[in-house]
Amino acid sequence: YADIAMYKAKEEGRNNYQFYSSKMMNIALKKATMEKELRRAIEENELLVYYQPQIDARNRSLVGVEALVRWDHPEKGLVPPDAFIPLAEETGLIKDLDHYVMCQAMSDMVEWQQMGLAPGILSLNLSISQLMKNDFFFKLQKTLLETGFKVKWLTFEITENQVMLNPKRSIKKLTMLNQMGVKISIDDFGTGYSSLAYLKRFPVDKLKIDKSFIHDLPYNAEDCAITNAVIALAESLQLEIIAEGVEQRDQVRYLLEQGCYIIQGYHYSRPLPKKEMTEYLQR
Ligand code: C2E
Ligand code: MG
Ligand code: MG
Ligand code: MG
Repeated sequence: YADIAMYKAKEEGRNNYQFYSSKMMNIALKKATMEKELRRAIEENELLVYYQPQIDARNRSLVGVEALVRWDHPEKGLVPPDAFIPLAEETGLIKDLDHYVMCQAMSDMVEWQQMGLAPGILSLNLSISQLMKNDFFFKLQKTLLETGFKVKWLTFEITENQVMLNPKRSIKKLTMLNQMGVKISIDDFGTGYSSLAYLKRFPVDKLKIDKSFIHDLPYNAEDCAITNAVIALAESLQLEIIAEGVEQRDQVRYLLEQGCYIIQGYHYSRPLPKKEMTEYLQR
């Protein structure tokens, strides 16, 4: 019986192996196709930059916008970034993608400024791999010059986990950005594993409370406690604090009570394509 059992396990194992390897093959094929398509998307301007307002909830004034990329796929329609950013990271295409978004967003901003509709700060999501590239600073300077966008209006959002992949090098690069006059914001704050000791040493200007903590405010006691702790931390380190993913009036009220004034979320506006953002600014 033991032999039969062993034999069966081997058979099943082999079948499983074949099953998994054909499944992996499929995934690999899908990835390869998508990589090719994404490359084309960057070259043929299928990427769109949307803008989401960041609002000072005390007087409902606009303080800035976050640029958020979308992929206008010829067959699939509008594809959200979570569906292709990971692949872009994996394949190195993120470098071209972030550069494309940077150029587009800065030139849109200058257009709005020239129309007298200045939205304030531009927040760009920056992948750490883009920041670590040797030509990053050169490209940034070049884009600033070419578009005429002023560095004092620029914030880069970097996620906590990405920074922690290589804290020493990150600190060096972020310090260089800071010296240029660029602001640094830690995105999705609270979801990662950055130690507070590092936070002290990072040249950071803002913390963005992750939307997962905002979602159940003010009814979930744990989320309230975490939100309050992040706000207190920001206050004592003299950092700006922003809440993202704010959808409900009650959430705004709670955040205001706790001392978080800058708010981004569907409650005020969804991310808007350029034309709608222009109309928003005109209103
Ligand atoms: P993120 O930087 O944390 O951006 C905030 C996300 O929350 C956006 O998702 C935004 O649309 C969404 N959001 C805003 N308000 C609300 C709300 O009230 N409720 C809910 N449920 N969601 C809200 P999106 O646009 O799908 O982007 C996802 C992520 O993709 C971003 O998260 C960012 O990490 C990444 N990403 C987007 N654009 C770029 C880019 O140009 N470069 C890089 N490297 N990453 C990008
Ligand atoms: Mg962001
Ligand atoms: Mg975030
Ligand atoms: Mg995120």
